[in-house]
Amino acid sequence: MNTKIVRISEDREEKWVEQSGEILQHGGLVAFPTETVYGLGANALDEKAAAKIYAAKGRPSDNPLIVHIADFSALEKIVEKIPEEALKLAEAFWPGPLTMIMKKSKLVPDGTTGGLDTVAVRMPKHEIALKMIRAGGGYIAAPSANTSGRPSPTAAEHVIEDMDGKIDMILDGGSVGIGLESTIIDLSEGTPVILRPGFITQKMAEQVIGKVEMDAGLIRPDANIRPKAPGMKYRHYAPKASMILVRGEREQVSEKIRQLVYEELKQGKNPGILCAEETADTYTEGIVKKIGTLHDEMTISRHLYGVLREFDQEGVTSIFSETFETPVLGTAIMNRLMKAAGYQLIEV
Ligand code: AMP
Ligand code: MG
Repeated sequence: MNTKIVRISEDREEKWVEQSGEILQHGGLVAFPTETVYGLGANALDEKAAAKIYAAKGRPSDNPLIVHIADFSALEKIVEKIPEEALKLAEAFWPGPLTMIMKKSKLVPDGTTGGLDTVAVRMPKHEIALKMIRAGGGYIAAPSANTSGRPSPTAAEHVIEDMDGKIDMILDGGSVGIGLESTIIDLSEGTPVILRPGFITQKMAEQVIGKVEMDAGLIRPDANIRPKAPGMKYRHYAPKASMILVRGEREQVSEKIRQLVYEELKQGKNPGILCAEETADTYTEGIVKKIGTLHDEMTISRHLYGVLREFDQEGVTSIFSETFETPVLGTAIMNRLMKAAGYQLIEV
């Protein structure tokens, strides 16, 4: 398949939005930017179109898709009923990086929800995305636009790496702002539960709707508790190299990482180091990559996946990473890092 790649510029925006809408209406696939990561879109109400997403990504078919909408009025058609909490959260955070799970209506095919009786819905905060969703019929199923198991794409180049030749069109809107997937909150039964941490934190949600829990399956990976979002159980977000996180006092962390790197080099391997701008100077050997500054946590979330991809490209055999327990995004950043590392953590 020949993938059409277009750079969004103001003068031609209307044309590309119209073309992507047509592709979506005819059951095709379009990758598009959002404020979180790039999405791979298909008509959510067309089972055959949704099936193409799974094929292009190599995604397990039990892993449901998030349905993207552009107008709040679109919500009532795809859910059984709109819970009170959903109204309040939408008011506070939509458009934005929050996905809500509700009981689905009959309009949503099983192929979109992995056979579940619930549907995940989000309204992204990105002008191009919103226009494309409307042009495509208003209901666009979209997971992240990466090959399953690879880090999510935060720039069009990443989408091209994974999807060129497999989908109809890629809308290149430059780099994304947040760089981590949306927060997912389950409103389908009892107390609201966060199934995937993101930019909207538990605290922020609680300020709007009262008590919110964290999914127990998120915290202890190898316990017998399964994460409730089917996708959270896979070793996701992963670079090709093995990855180990080192946590503790900054100086001790540096020392431990230097020691690990030294041992790898001695064995003729090619180790990489993932660190903050502030500590980069403490490393003199190995491939050192600064992820961002501790004074601005968005620089860390935004660059995380891109840096993991760079390590892959440079053929690094192992990655040693500092931890980034930053004030707001720390939970989400550490969730992704722990998964990328297959939960390998050394405390010093
Ligand atoms: P992605 O679109 O690649 O960011 O992944 C979507 C995430 O949402 C996956 O972890 C899914 O398992 C999760 N998800 C989507 N729909 C549902 C649902 N109805 N119930 C629980 N989790 C869901
Ligand atoms: Mg994904």
